[in-house]
Amino acid sequence: MPKKKLKSKEKIVKVYMCATDWEWEIGEVLGSTPVYSSVKSLKDERSCVEECGIVEVEVKLSQWIQPENRKWGKG
Ligand SMILES: [Zn+2]
Repeated sequence: MPKKKLKSKEKIVKVYMCATDWEWEIGEVLGSTPVYSSVKSLKDERSCVEECGIVEVEVKLSQWIQPENRKWGKG
């Protein structure tokens, strides 16, 4: 394994989502479900939140599934 600065497992990142995405999509649909680093960027990108609402979500790394395999930056 290459030396890598992993984010601590204990680090929790707060992100913001459309409340409908949270209730119906995350973990359920194929593909990605967007999260945003701030309420402002969520509102800028997703006009639906005026109707859907906004939730704050905590993201925590639970397991490193596939090791990094970068070709560049070695040596
Ligand atoms: Zn929405």
